[in-house]
Amino acid sequence: MIKRVFLFIFCFILIGSFFPVFAKNSDIPEVAGTYNDPDHPGVRVRVFVHRIKPEKGKPTPPNPLICQLPDPESSSQVAAENWLLPVQWTYNLNPDSVPSTVGKDNLTIMAENDFESWSQATGNRIIFTKGTNSTTNRQSLDYQNVVAWGRTSGTALAVTYIRYYPDNNLVVDVDTIMNNKFPWSWSNSMTCAYQNSYDAENILTHELGHWIGLDDMYELSYQDATMYGYGSKMEVKKTTLTDGDKIGAYTIYNQ
Ligand SMILES: [Zn+2]
Repeated sequence: MIKRVFLFIFCFILIGSFFPVFAKNSDIPEVAGTYNDPDHPGVRVRVFVHRIKPEKGKPTPPNPLICQLPDPESSSQVAAENWLLPVQWTYNLNPDSVPSTVGKDNLTIMAENDFESWSQATGNRIIFTKGTNSTTNRQSLDYQNVVAWGRTSGTALAVTYIRYYPDNNLVVDVDTIMNNKFPWSWSNSMTCAYQNSYDAENILTHELGHWIGLDDMYELSYQDATMYGYGSKMEVKKTTLTDGDKIGAYTIYNQ
């Protein structure tokens, strides 16, 4: 009996190696860039990697809530990529993947806040709806648009994968994976943050900006924008959109 089981597993691996249909998105690198989806001809994948801003010196323990943080305004218009979300867009949260320091129930609250901000920024051209919860914490073209904590490469705070058809620029699938190796928290505030950790809503708001079609901005003139490409510990200013973020979003859907 045991021999048969081993024979079955062996055959399964052998067949799997000959037919790439068994491969699961392993060919899409976790590196910022645009790729063809090897498993789905005609679908292009844009990968965004949210990097950490290099810090000087070491943060000091413990973990107090620090308030009166700046939330500066910026009118630098954020650039757009070339995809569009359909008018109705459903998202799928994975509460069980949320770090306990953030709280699984808080993901729903954060997501509702942030999708609403971006919906308004587009002039309510996109209506976001919360779908069934997901148990996956990996990106794939499965028609679930997932927000989850999972494994990403060492220096990425979060990675967002946008799959779209280049023929009409319509998005077909989006996934955001937050890196569970980093310390996370949620202050539920625009001006307070927990020291020594990354504010979950701060980074999530940025990632959802990619969903609607905005690019990463790395120039210093964008350092106060939600779409600034670097993230820092104890940063919450990305949770509120700047005028430049809003104009960028509005321009995509109102031309
Ligand atoms: Zn980004």
